[in-house]
Amino acid sequence: MDLQIERKYIVNRWIMNARWFYVLGILCIGMITKQGGRTNVDFSYLSMISIALSVLALNTFFYAYLRRSLKENSITRLNILGFMQIAAELIAFTFVMHQAGGVESIALVFYFLPIVSAATLFGFRGGLISALISGLLVNLLVIFEYYGVIPHIYRYGVLSIEYQYLSISLIKTFTISIFYGIVGIFTGYGAKLLLARENALQNKTLSLTKEKNIVSSMIASFEDPIIFLDDGNNIEIFNPAAEQILGMKIADRGLKIGGNLNMDNFRKAAKTDFKVIQPKYESYELPFEEVSLYYQGKEMNYRVITAEVKGKDGRRYGNMKIFNNVTREKIIDKLKSEFISIAAHQLRTPLTVIKWITKSLMDGESGKINDEQKELLNKGYISNERMIELIDNLLKVSRMEDGKFDLKLTRVNLKKIIDEVVEDMGRIAKNKDVVLVLNEPELWPDIVIDPSQITLVMENLLDNAVKYTPPGRKVEISVGRESEYLKITVRDEGIGIPEKDRGRLFSKFYRSPNAIRVETEGNGLGLYIAKKIIDGHKGKIYVDSSEGKGSAFTVYLPLTTQVLHI
Ligand code: ADP
Repeated sequence: MDLQIERKYIVNRWIMNARWFYVLGILCIGMITKQGGRTNVDFSYLSMISIALSVLALNTFFYAYLRRSLKENSITRLNILGFMQIAAELIAFTFVMHQAGGVESIALVFYFLPIVSAATLFGFRGGLISALISGLLVNLLVIFEYYGVIPHIYRYGVLSIEYQYLSISLIKTFTISIFYGIVGIFTGYGAKLLLARENALQNKTLSLTKEKNIVSSMIASFEDPIIFLDDGNNIEIFNPAAEQILGMKIADRGLKIGGNLNMDNFRKAAKTDFKVIQPKYESYELPFEEVSLYYQGKEMNYRVITAEVKGKDGRRYGNMKIFNNVTREKIIDKLKSEFISIAAHQLRTPLTVIKWITKSLMDGESGKINDEQKELLNKGYISNERMIELIDNLLKVSRMEDGKFDLKLTRVNLKKIIDEVVEDMGRIAKNKDVVLVLNEPELWPDIVIDPSQITLVMENLLDNAVKYTPPGRKVEISVGRESEYLKITVRDEGIGIPEKDRGRLFSKFYRSPNAIRVETEGNGLGLYIAKKIIDGHKGKIYVDSSEGKGSAFTVYLPLTTQVLHI
């Protein structure tokens, strides 16, 4: 309903409701006054009741008119009704005042009612005009009575002082007229203020509703699922894509997600079966998960981000699960991996052949070679070895991504592995004048791991530490226990890792620019593979670094490992 219409409707109804009471009130006053017997009331009880009943009949008519105005949604009708009501009151009160003794009566106060009603209905102007009319009516009444144009009814049956002197009468009516004016202006102004605030509030509500509609339409238009959960992890809103793709039902609203907000805990809400390809382990530098599911007969891959929903004022509303369709990227990625895998396989054999040919040439198996030739062959041999290493890494990555990389877990004591790696790397460190220090624990606990893979991780971490540490500095390996984990830290005093690069360190082929400057060789696969291996052991790997001062890579391996598949 229009605000104006609503307001006029309410005020009109309010005046009508009030009328029941004041008509009864005036009737009572009339009866009591007549009973008092000291006045000149001409009316019989019956005529008093008849007058009251006619006013109430008029009120009923007003009610019918009000209903009709509302049905027709007509502001003009409501204005006419308001006007009729105020006019009726002004006439009725003038009649009552006359009957109650004119200037002698206190019926003058009744006029405040139509003044306030007019101000509320028609604002400032309405209040002022009805105040002026009221003033005019009371003043004319006493003048006409004084000059006998209309008869004066003696209120108390005696000649009162007010009636004797016109000036006294007029002082009284003038004074009250001024009050009428004040009340009219005051109420009109108040009504105007209220109206302005009401309008402002309505505008605000309208713009908020519009904003809300736009936001919900935007969310509904997203092709990928979006789920909003309130602060207590209850599902509150989700878009049509969530219904179609995840099979969520309206009845799921309010469903509580137990535990954390990882996708695995959404199986109760999502009717579509899905596979979590990449769970959100704490150690992942990017806080997302990856799921795959079948929709309309096709395999789809989604990257799922869990984001906190916070207001500008910092108030927390809950969390959102935002799905991002990465099916296409996955297909391209797969094709790329396949290409790399095929290319690597094809390259592996000729490179191995070159390796053995170079080796046999260097060993003089095909005739004696001089030192210069040997030196050149050696350079070729080293480059070839590097290429083989790269290809081995590429093959390993592609096997890991295809899920064909199994860990061969056995119970071992890590001491042997660490000792061997430290010994091997010790030689390289010594050549570079880097000091390698091992801080051993008092007791080496047994641990279930894949020894060759963990050896690979340790070799990579130590190799990096030595590679990125200038001569004369120290690399330290510390092994210890921390709650349920075995903790291995490789700390160096090298070039460090700029903060902006730390998040991407464990991704494929990433090398930070400061490292490329000091060491041109490297393929950026070592840490990627290391992390995959550690994840496969349900362990964690963290980096802590200060640029220019050094880095510390910490590996946590659970003391009870059961995972067999990367
Ligand atoms: P590579 O060493 O072959 O470049 P990695 O995957 O082992 O590849 O390392 C990736 C990148 O991480 C490196 O290129 C380097 O930028 C950074 N990095 C790794 N270890 C260290 C370290 N100890 N000090 C400084 N930077 C490091």
